[in-house]
Amino acid sequence: MTTTIDLTRETLTDQFKRPITYLRISVTDKCNLRCVYCMPEAGLAWLPKNELLSYEEIAKLVEAAAFAGVRSVRLSGGEPLIRRDLHRLVAVIHAVDGIDDISLSTNGLLLAEQMAELKAAGLRRVNVSLDTLRADRFEAIARRAGLERVLAGIDAAIDAGMQPVKINVVVMRGQNDDEIADFAEWTKRRPVFVRFIEVMPVHENVGLQRDAYVSSDEILDRVRTIGELLPSIGPGGNGPARYFAFDGAPGAVGVISPLSHDYCERCNRVRLTADGRLRLCLFGDQDVDLRTPLRAGESTEGLGDILRSAMLIKPERHHLRLGETSARMRAFSEIGG
Ligand code: SAM
Repeated sequence: MTTTIDLTRETLTDQFKRPITYLRISVTDKCNLRCVYCMPEAGLAWLPKNELLSYEEIAKLVEAAAFAGVRSVRLSGGEPLIRRDLHRLVAVIHAVDGIDDISLSTNGLLLAEQMAELKAAGLRRVNVSLDTLRADRFEAIARRAGLERVLAGIDAAIDAGMQPVKINVVVMRGQNDDEIADFAEWTKRRPVFVRFIEVMPVHENVGLQRDAYVSSDEILDRVRTIGELLPSIGPGGNGPARYFAFDGAPGAVGVISPLSHDYCERCNRVRLTADGRLRLCLFGDQDVDLRTPLRAGESTEGLGDILRSAMLIKPERHHLRLGETSARMRAFSEIGG
């Protein structure tokens, strides 16, 4: 990596003057789970290998993004830990001038065995997705077994000193909403930030989403049944969660409410798909192909300029409504949720 970043440059902003400092990268469209709200059980076509960005190509795009003004990167997927030697990518991104924060979203299945290498490569914080604390339910929701391994992954992250460790819980009525209090209890004992997420509509789950949706206000009311919640500034990071904590608790509870309280006016992010498209909104169709210019040999500065001009098509907000899906997206795994 040779490009020197001028950190005094104006930050990247879109046409609505929102600073765009955060890039979420999907490193693979594949996953080792099939969560009911996220992916179909079968029938998603995987990207052919030659369409997938290599680690070297991702690193070059991160360098371009840093040149344009991005400061923070999250690796996601699909399931990022199924891509071989992910720690190699973490190390390369960690070394990019201008990137001062690198994080990972994982389902946790492979986290315990990779934690030490990831930490050594520069990873400092992690989000683990976990929707239930009951083994039989885990299999029903994720359509695969693995609760014990995910819990071991969370323990490994805490023991390795990841800060913060965030737990993402997608809440679904009739499937796991009776575990809201159990998850919230965790935050009284452990330094975890449990974030309850409103289930969002994708092509495959519109019906489920309509029936299973629980608003963040209802979620918070149910957390309050086990104790008084105080507003909390939360653990930092780039996300849209609103945080609350029990008095004296080492952790906190957060809610992410894209439907009931959208946070588009604070949107600070863009996404890079595993095949090199810059996606401007999770729920919009606007995207820009970065892989073609990258493979044609475009310079870091040139790619950074393409990123800058892409900001002109970042939409002001999503138009999601309960029971509707707006994008040509079958699963979050295609984009890196
Ligand atoms: N495999 C990784 C993981 O499990 O965190 C990263 C990818 S996953 C698509 C990223 C996040 O998106 C997870 O927290 C998952 O629960 C969330 N997600 C996927 N589909 C969703 C939906 N329809 N509504 C709300 N959250 C969703």
